[in-house]
Amino acid sequence: MKKKHHIIAIDGHSSTGKSTLAKQLAEALDFLYIDTGAMYRAVTFYAMKKGWLSSDHFDKEALLKSLADIHISFKKNPETGRPEVLLNGENIEKEIRNMEVSNLVSIIAAVPEVRKKLVAEQRKMAENQNVVMDGRDIGSVVFPNADIKIFMTASPEMRATRRYNELKEKGLEVSYEEVLKNVNERDKMDSERKDSPLVKTKDAIVLDNTNMSKKEQFQRLFELISSIL
Ligand code: C5P
Repeated sequence: MKKKHHIIAIDGHSSTGKSTLAKQLAEALDFLYIDTGAMYRAVTFYAMKKGWLSSDHFDKEALLKSLADIHISFKKNPETGRPEVLLNGENIEKEIRNMEVSNLVSIIAAVPEVRKKLVAEQRKMAENQNVVMDGRDIGSVVFPNADIKIFMTASPEMRATRRYNELKEKGLEVSYEEVLKNVNERDKMDSERKDSPLVKTKDAIVLDNTNMSKKEQFQRLFELISSIL
């Protein structure tokens, strides 16, 4: 019997193009797209703004006391048609994509209380909806019964090159070495943390896109998903 609502879970290493693929699939299938990485980035940004988090300092207690004051939502940008993240009503889509946030986000993502809050919100957002959700623990923790699970990977060098070009295009000052270091460090921290580490579940379809174009990747996945759903 066909289920009423479908969940497509996309997990994988940092900078593998999960969100690009997830957005394309959500648009083509008319599903809701939820970028869970943006939610961890938003909490990171909040802690940084409050002065609780920097490269050499993390006041976890202060953050935990304020978790209830953090409200994350998504709003569609009418120009691009794509969702952007709001923190307590303020659009912070641009601010959460910089290297400072990228360098600190895995610290926040390792805090069990933060994960508990965000996972509950992710499940609520997907209630009664067809959803494409991307992150690190979607197929393993958030939706272990997802209809389709995809695990994305690519060589660290290829991922760093793509990320570096993307950041440069946005006008951000970064070096390739810094981006490569960040990609490797995040993979390590995300895979080794105790709570909900990044893992490939047995039932996930592995997509290594080191030598694949975005178009090719989308076509393959779209055909596959259409044959399953
Ligand atoms: O997907 P993105 O690279 O924006 O995610 C940023 C960070 O958020 C990841 O490196 C990881 O530490 C954390 N994250 C997570 N679980 C998710 C999504 C993101 O731990 N479901």
